[in-house]
Amino acid sequence: MAEMITEFFGIDVFNESVMKERLPEATFAALKKTMENKEELDPQIADVVAGAMKDWAIEKGATHYTHWFQPMTGITAEKHDAFISPAPEGKVMLEFSGKELVKGEPDASSFPSGGLRATFEARGYTTWDCTSPAFVREDAGGVTLCIPTAFCSYTGDALDKKTPLLRSMEALDKQAVRILKLFGHEDVTNVSCSVGPEQEYFLIDRQKFLQREDLIYTGRTLFGALPPKGAEMDDHYFGSLKERVSAYMKEVNKELWKLGVLAKTQHNEGAPAQHELAPIYSTANISVDHNQLVMEVMKKVAKRHGLECLLHEKPFRGLYGSGKHNNWSMVTNTGKNLLSPGKKPNENLQFLLFVTAVIKSVDEHALLLRWSSSGAGNDQRLGAHEAPPAIISIFLGEQLEDIVRQFIEKGDAPECKQKSYMNIGVHTLPEIRKDATDRNRTSPFAFTGNKFEFRMVGAPMSIAGPNTVLNTIVADTLGAFAKELEEVPAGEFEAAVKKLLQRELAAHERIIFNGNGYSEEWREEAVKRGLPNEDSFIGSVKALTDEKTVEVFTRQNVLNRTELEARAEINYENYSKTINIEARTMLDMVAKLYIPAVIRYTSDLAGSINSVRTAVPTANVTVQEKLLTKISGLLAETEDAVEVLRKARSAAYQEKDAKLQAEAYRKNVVPAMEALRTPVDELEGIVDKNTWPVPAYGDLVYEV
Ligand code: ADP
Ligand code: MG
Repeated sequence: MAEMITEFFGIDVFNESVMKERLPEATFAALKKTMENKEELDPQIADVVAGAMKDWAIEKGATHYTHWFQPMTGITAEKHDAFISPAPEGKVMLEFSGKELVKGEPDASSFPSGGLRATFEARGYTTWDCTSPAFVREDAGGVTLCIPTAFCSYTGDALDKKTPLLRSMEALDKQAVRILKLFGHEDVTNVSCSVGPEQEYFLIDRQKFLQREDLIYTGRTLFGALPPKGAEMDDHYFGSLKERVSAYMKEVNKELWKLGVLAKTQHNEGAPAQHELAPIYSTANISVDHNQLVMEVMKKVAKRHGLECLLHEKPFRGLYGSGKHNNWSMVTNTGKNLLSPGKKPNENLQFLLFVTAVIKSVDEHALLLRWSSSGAGNDQRLGAHEAPPAIISIFLGEQLEDIVRQFIEKGDAPECKQKSYMNIGVHTLPEIRKDATDRNRTSPFAFTGNKFEFRMVGAPMSIAGPNTVLNTIVADTLGAFAKELEEVPAGEFEAAVKKLLQRELAAHERIIFNGNGYSEEWREEAVKRGLPNEDSFIGSVKALTDEKTVEVFTRQNVLNRTELEARAEINYENYSKTINIEARTMLDMVAKLYIPAVIRYTSDLAGSINSVRTAVPTANVTVQEKLLTKISGLLAETEDAVEVLRKARSAAYQEKDAKLQAEAYRKNVVPAMEALRTPVDELEGIVDKNTWPVPAYGDLVYEV
C-alpha cells in the first residue's frame, strides 16, 4: 500500500506540533512569543527546549547536532558535535544544553568575511534562529540534528545571509504595519513577507558528468558545440517525464516532505534534461532555509540514481539557462495578502499604495536588485537565449497598467478592465474565467496576480540576498509613505493617497514595461528611458556601496556601511576566483585532452593519406587533405588562444586590489576564454566523434 503523505510529512522536523506535545505549556507559550518576534528568548526556556529537542532527535537516531548556517559562500555550512559528555566509570551521557542550542562558536576564519573579521580575531558566533524549525537529517552518514542559525562576528556584524534577511523582515514588518494602521487595520500586528521560489535544474547521467572536467570543477560546460536539436521543437517543456527522472523526483519529494518542505509542482522545463521544482510559498526565512534543503536534497538524491543535478545558471551554452523565480508578497498576521488586488483594484487604494511602493523601490534600486540576483554564473544567462535581460523592468499586466495610466493622467482610476470568459468553442468543457493579465515570460520582474515574480535570480543562488534587498527597499519606501500620510488630517486621507499615487507613478513610470523583454528594441528603449543596463555582475557590485544604498540599508537597520563594503569585497574576490578556476580548467582541458586528441586524429588522417597514396598513387585524397589543413589551422588558432589566455590569467591573478582584479578578469580573461572556446568548438564539429575526448552536448542532455 502506498504510504500516506499526511503521515510522513514533516516527521523529521521539530515543528510546532512536536513542541506543543513535548514542551511544558508555559515554555511553549513563551517560545511562541519569541518566534512571533515579540519577546527576547529567556535562557531558562532555551534549556528546556534543548532538552526536548535532544530527546526527540535521539529517538530519531541522532548522534550529533550541528548549527546549520549560511555564510557568504551562498551555500550552507555546518560543524558537527556529538551529544556525548563523559560520565563516571568510563561511560558517556548524552547532553545538550540551552547554551549549546543558542550559541555556537565555529572558528570563523575560513569563511568569507570581506575584512569584517581579521584572521587574528577569528571569533564568529552562530545563534539559534527559533523562527525556522530545527530538523534531523538522515542519510548514509547517520542522523544529525540541524539547528538553523545566524552567523555574526564578535562585533555583531553579519557574516552570513540570514542575519540581514531577518533584519529586513523586521523592517518590512514595522513599516507595512504603519501603513495598515493608516487604513484603519488596528487588528494587524505583524506583516511578514511570503516567498515561493521555483527551482530550475538539469539532470544528466553521472558517468558522463564524471568525464567532463569543466562540469566537475565549474558546474558548467566551458566547451561544447550545440547538438543538431536544441529546444526549438518545444517538446520538452511540460513533456511527459522519463521514468528515470520521475523515479528521481519521487525520492526528492519524499525526502523534502519528510523535512517539512512543501514541494508541490514538478515538470520538464524548456531545454532537454531541464526540470523544475516549485514549493508552496512560506515565510521568507523558512523559504530560504527550505530552498537550501531543496538544492542539497536534489544533488544528493541524484547521485543515488546515477545522475548528477546541475544547478548552474548556464550549464550548456545555446540551451536555456536555469533560474529561480522568486515569488514575493506581503501577508498580514490576519491572513491578508497585501498584493491581492481584490474585485475592484482601481478603487483599492491600499493595494495600489503597496504596489506603488514596490514600483518606486524597484526603479530607485534597479542596479542593486540586479546585483542581488546574480553572480559570475548568471552573466552567462542574463540577456542570453530566452532568459530575462540584465535590465530591470516591471510587467504589470493590462489591467493594472491601465489603472496606473489613469492615475497618472487623472489622479484617480474610475475604470477597471474586467476579467472575461474564454470562448473555447466546446460546450462540454467548463467555462473558465480569464485571468486579468496574460503571462509575460520575458519580464524580469512581473506582477502575477497577487505577488511579484522576480525572475532574474540564478538557479544556484541563495534567495536570501534578493529577498533582503526587496524587503529593505520596500520597507524604506513604505516608511516614507507612512511619514507623509501620517501627517494628513483624517478627512483628507483618501485624497492625499491619490495625490501620492499620481506623483509616484508618474515619477517611476519608466520602469513599467509590458512588451517583449527579450527584444533588441527594448534594449534601445531602456537606454532612452535611462534604465541601468549593466551586462556584467561585477559592474553591479558598485550598487552595494552607493550612497543611496548605504543610506537606506542603514536607516532600516539591515546592513551598515562596513557590512555592505565587506559584501562588495567578497563579491569581487568570489568573481575572480570563479573566473580563475574556469580559465585554469579550460587551459587544462585543452592541454591534456583536446590538443592530444586532435593531434592523434591528424596523424591518423596523415597516415591515411599516405597509405592511400601508396596503395593507389593516382587516388584522390583531397577530402583528407582539406580536412587536415582545416584542422591544423584550428589547432594553431587554439594554441595561440591558449597563450593569450595564459598571459591574461596570470596578469589578473597577480593584481592585488580585489576590485581591480575582478575587473581584470572580466575585461581580459573572459574574452580570452571566449577566444579559446571558439576554435575548440569548431574542431568538435569536424573531428571524428570517437576521438573526441569528452561527451558531447547531445550525449549529455539526450541520454538521461
Ligand atoms: P507559475 O509562476 O508557474 O504560474 P504559480 O503562480 O502557481 O506558478 O506559483 C509559483 C510560485 O509562487 C509557487 O511557489 C507559489 O507557492 C508561489 N506563490 C503563490 N502565491 C504567493 C504569494 N502570495 N507570495 C509568495 N509566493 C507565492
Ligand atoms: Mg513562475
